[in-house]
Amino acid sequence: MFEKILIANRGEIALRVQRACRELGIKTVVVHSEADREAKYVKLADESVCIGPASSALSYLNIPAIISAAEVTDAQAIHPGYGFLSENADFAERVESSGFVFIGPRAETIRLMGDKVSAKDAMKAAGVPCVPGSDGALPEDPKEIIKIGRAVGYPVIIKAAGGGGGRGMRVVHTEAALINAVAMTRQEAQTAFGNPMVYMEKFLENPRHVEIQVLADEFKNAVYLGERDCSMQRRHQKVIEEAPAPGIPARLIARVGERCAEACRRIGYRGAGTFEFLYENGEFYFIEMNTRVQVEHPVTELITGIDIVQEQIRIAAGEKLRFKQRDIQFRGHAIECRVNAEDPFTFVPSPGTISWWHPPGGPGVRVDSHAYSGYKVPPHYDSMIGKIITFGDTREQAIRRMRIALSETVVQGIKTNIPLHQELMQDARFVEGGTSIHYLEHKLAAKNEVKSVEG
Ligand code: ADP
Repeated sequence: MFEKILIANRGEIALRVQRACRELGIKTVVVHSEADREAKYVKLADESVCIGPASSALSYLNIPAIISAAEVTDAQAIHPGYGFLSENADFAERVESSGFVFIGPRAETIRLMGDKVSAKDAMKAAGVPCVPGSDGALPEDPKEIIKIGRAVGYPVIIKAAGGGGGRGMRVVHTEAALINAVAMTRQEAQTAFGNPMVYMEKFLENPRHVEIQVLADEFKNAVYLGERDCSMQRRHQKVIEEAPAPGIPARLIARVGERCAEACRRIGYRGAGTFEFLYENGEFYFIEMNTRVQVEHPVTELITGIDIVQEQIRIAAGEKLRFKQRDIQFRGHAIECRVNAEDPFTFVPSPGTISWWHPPGGPGVRVDSHAYSGYKVPPHYDSMIGKIITFGDTREQAIRRMRIALSETVVQGIKTNIPLHQELMQDARFVEGGTSIHYLEHKLAAKNEVKSVEG
């Protein structure tokens, strides 16, 4: 096992990785920007290194500074968390060529999955069900594109091969709009991701977002840890996640989960990963794979009793998976609310000093957050300041516990989206379960209409 790990991230995930290391008896080095100097996890770390100014481009994305920090502190491995450099194949390569272990898959796997066209090809070959669409990237010839559009059937969605974070996508409803939409998406993709390649998928009108968590070791052992439903989204950003996904038969999950584990064995996947699917009318359609730990990993931890971050570290240290598929038991239900420093209804970010922070507690409540009274939320990064996760024997109990947890939470000095979560925990459709990825947007739009009529 490693003696010392460098954590190349910030915020709640830096603290989460630190906790996993401590439990494994591993020392931690935290790298931080000037804006995060006062963070709790920086103070709690065995060592810390300032790697640059507030701007992420100069700190959390500064590969040479991170590698130097690992060198001067004698760390053996680097955990990238999520976001920032976590899915950057060049970073993984640089880490390994500098003599450190990258806690994640091989660089070539990250590259394969980072290109959505090659990822889909690999998944199709492994028997993972995909959204119907173009066979690979779209050609240049407009006539060919029109032909593909007809074969797929409208509406279609044009997506950038190098896209991410919900950007680089365009829905097309009619053939007349197709060629222009392809040209515009290509141009955006070139500007945003440096890769003009685009592909076409059938646009699913009312799907849910259901994803499968996997773990795989160096020795081609792979398991799936069940699914998460992340359909409650705004602008393609997840707001609430839960496990298991309400109303999806266990045998369907087992079937697709087994396919995902098999895909891992085939591509020699290593570490934790997530296969994201759209789910509609009882069918799963693969959209992409995330080759890192995800924000919503705690809901899976709560229903399986497996510490995903510790397993990532064990796998990176060359250990064999400690369990087989039949050892994995699913119990109860877990829900996660992402707490963001933002206005709950206009979504304008609300950085600043938290004058009073009082997290909830009690049976079945977990809070993953780096916040504290007096903590200053910097304006430079993502607005998420923590996650409240509740567990219950049933979904009803998890929801009841979440309502109580939210009512106990005090955050003063900044605005948070807790009032939105409170509203959603009372929402009849959410309580029923199984809402689509458009539900939250539609609900918010309807509310704004009422407001403008009243106002
Ligand atoms: P990103 O990597 O940018 O997150 P994804 O491929 O995961 O891109 O898609 C993000 C979101 O876009 C999905 O969660 C879904 O809401 C929507 N989306 C993507 N593909 C389709 C599709 N074929 N039909 C309907 N919605 C889609």
